[in-house]
This record gives sequence, structure tokens and C-alpha cells, in this order.
Amino acid sequence: MATTGMDNCARSGMACNECNNLLVAPEWSAYVSKHEVRHVWFCENCGHEIEMAVNLRVQNLERKKIRARYADAA
Ligand SMILES: [Zn+2]
Repeated sequence: MATTGMDNCARSGMACNECNNLLVAPEWSAYVSKHEVRHVWFCENCGHEIEMAVNLRVQNLERKKIRARYADAA
């Protein structure tokens, strides 16, 4: 089964990989292509910048899977 780790990170924030400070939201996001968004996180504590690419096609697929799972349970 595919991992949803990246999806969870984008929603609930992530930890700075330099000082472990919790980053709540990306500093800015930009569309790289039709199906890819780049989030740039900036740590206020140490000034570290983290770039993260998110593939929207993968995310949409995951959402459909989750929806299908809830439909089955109901
Ligand atoms: Zn930091």
C-alpha cells in the first residue's frame, strides 16, 4: 500500500530537520507544473529552509481511495 506520509505532513505541519522546531505552514507554495506543487517551509527558529514537492495526481488518487474506504464501511 502507498504511504500517505507526505500528505499528512502537508496538512499538520512538519518538524525542521535542523532544530526540530515545529513548522505549522509553508512559507509559500508554487505550482511547478499542472500536477506538481512546491512548498517551501521556513524555520523561524534557525532560519533553515525546506523545499518539498507534492504530486497532486498522487494526492487525488489517495483521496479517492480514502473516500472509497469510507463508502465501504457505511
Ligand atoms: Zn530550525
